[in-house]
This record gives sequence, C-alpha cells and structure tokens, in this order.
Amino acid sequence: MTHIIDGNAVASDVRDGLSTAIETLDAEGVTPTLATVLMSDDPASETYVSMKQRDCEEVGIEALDIELDPEAPADELFETVEDLNADPNVNGILVQMPVPDHIADRDVIRAIDPAKDVDGFHPENVGRLVAGDPVFKPCTPHGVLELLDAADVETEGADIAIVGRSNIVGKPLANLLVQKADYGNATVTVCHSRTENLAEKTRRADVVVAAVGVPELIDGSMISDGTVVIDVGVNRVERDGESTLVGDVDFESAKEKASAITPVPGGVGPMTRAMLLYNTVTAASRQEDVPVDLS
Ligand code: NDP
Repeated sequence: MTHIIDGNAVASDVRDGLSTAIETLDAEGVTPTLATVLMSDDPASETYVSMKQRDCEEVGIEALDIELDPEAPADELFETVEDLNADPNVNGILVQMPVPDHIADRDVIRAIDPAKDVDGFHPENVGRLVAGDPVFKPCTPHGVLELLDAADVETEGADIAIVGRSNIVGKPLANLLVQKADYGNATVTVCHSRTENLAEKTRRADVVVAAVGVPELIDGSMISDGTVVIDVGVNRVERDGESTLVGDVDFESAKEKASAITPVPGGVGPMTRAMLLYNTVTAASRQEDVPVDLS
C-alpha cells in the first residue's frame, strides 16, 4: 500500500509547534514580524504574497505588507529593503521574486540583512548552509526534509536523486542532504537538463525529488519499486478544457511503484509556507534574544 504523504497534515503539525514558541515570545512582549515586499502585478506573485500574509496572521505573526509600483526605479526597492533592515520591529524580510526586469534578483537578495533573510538565499547564508552551519534552511528544501522525517524515511545511507539544480530548491536540498547531520548523510545525485540517461539515475535511487517545472516528467517507468517520491513541482495545465495543477511527477503511474509519494497539491507546497513561518519565528527569537523550543 503506497503511503500518500499528507503535506497539509505535516504543515499543520509544524504550525502547532510554532504556536508554543509564539506564546513564549508574546510573553516577553515580542510579536514576530515578517515584511513582504511585492513589486509585481503578476497575479501568481500577488496570490503567493497574500497566502503568506494569511498564514502569518493565522499563527500570530504580524505581516507587514509593502507594495511597490513595478515601474518604480530600482532605488525605491533598495531603500525599502534598507529601511526594513534597520527597523528593529521587523524580524524577517521577503521580497517576492521575480522582481521587474530592470532590477537583478541577485542584487535584491544581497541587499537583505542576512539575519532577516528568512528565505535563506543571501550568499552569506548559502555559504553557511554549505559549510554545515545553516542560519536559515531555505523553505522548500527544509519542507522536503520535514516530509521525509514525517514519513519515517531514513536519509542516512540512502541514494537520493534530485532532478533540478535551482538555487532555491535543488542545490540547497542537495547540500542539506549530504551534511553530516540529522536528515543528512545521504548519497546525492543532482540531475538537470544536461543529464544523460535521467531514468537510469532515478531508477537507481531510494528517494527521488522532482523540482523541474516540467509537468509529469517523472513517470512510473523512471522509478523502481519501493522508491520514495517527493514532487516539488507545481505546474498549471489544461486538462479536458479545465485549468488544473499537476506536479513534475506523473502521480498515477508513480504511485503504482512508490512506497511513499507526495501529491500535488497538498504535498510540498504547504510545507514551504509552514517553513517560512518557522524561519520568521527563529529570526524573532534570535534578534530579541528570547530562546524558544522549535524542535
Ligand atoms: P527552475 O526552473 O529554477 O529549475 C528547474 C531545474 O530543472 C533546472 O535545474 C533545469 O536544468 C532542470 N530541468 C529542466 N528540464 C529538465 C529535464 N527535462 N530533465 C532534467 N532536468 C530538467 O525551477 P525551480 O527549482 O524554481 O522550481 C521547480 C519546480 O518546483 C517548478 O514547478 C516550481 O513551480 C516548483 N516549486 C514549488 C515550490 C513549492 O513550494 N511546492 C517552491 C519552489 C518551486 P538546468 O539547470 O540545466 O536548466
């Protein structure tokens, strides 16, 4: 019987765990605060930001909503980030990517104070993560580790194939999984668009993580019996005249062989959102020097 890993349930457990930490902070007069900066009129970006704000409000994190005109000069965004860096009431800063074409994503990420970089994308934080001393684990990779743990999947000694090498999913996840640490000690193969014989690599793996952005690329023929499949992908496609969400894994055929698999939606997505809350609470605890239990 294939275990369908319920990301909504695991994310709910993470949020429950955070509520105790938020109460501890509250007792010390600290309200964790996340500033979201949106400089886009892309409906998907608007939806992501409003979901993040709603998540914050539900658990007692204050969400500071800043919207900038996508046509505004780059300086306006950089000044906003500087103000947020300097604001002692703001614990975490999230600039929704992508920013408009006249501004480089990379420059924005570098402008954020690493101590408030709750996405974990600042080069200083990336370096700390690679060195085995993460400040913030990036939300999606962290969520994947939590899902593996919740499904009792042992990473130590496991062969794990990650399909996708982006800076936000594939690379940080690979770095976390090879650490000599909890949720680590795996042997990781990172695949990408130039990988030859992809199916050979995925069939060899005990765990396959798909973070590709290609609808249903990984099907049942590409995995072996008993594989654990984590589908990070979120792709909107037309099916029978209707718009629907699918992952990077062909769920139906993969489910026939997998021992455990995440669905889309309801798998990794809710975990990414929950781990952003986790990082914001972590940031508040450190900045205000109020220890909280986040185990
Ligand atoms: P990117 O586009 O940044 O990276 C995609 C990666 O997949 C690249 O490394 C690319 O290779 C590789 N790739 C593309 N086509 C193939 C192929 N045919 N075979 C093998 N590798 C391939 O995507 P992201 O990492 O940002 O996102 C990946 C997916 O995850 C998307 O569907 C996105 O929407 C989703 N996502 C979901 C999140 C969630 O919370 N559920 C959070 C973040 C992302 P190369 O480097 O050579 O170009």
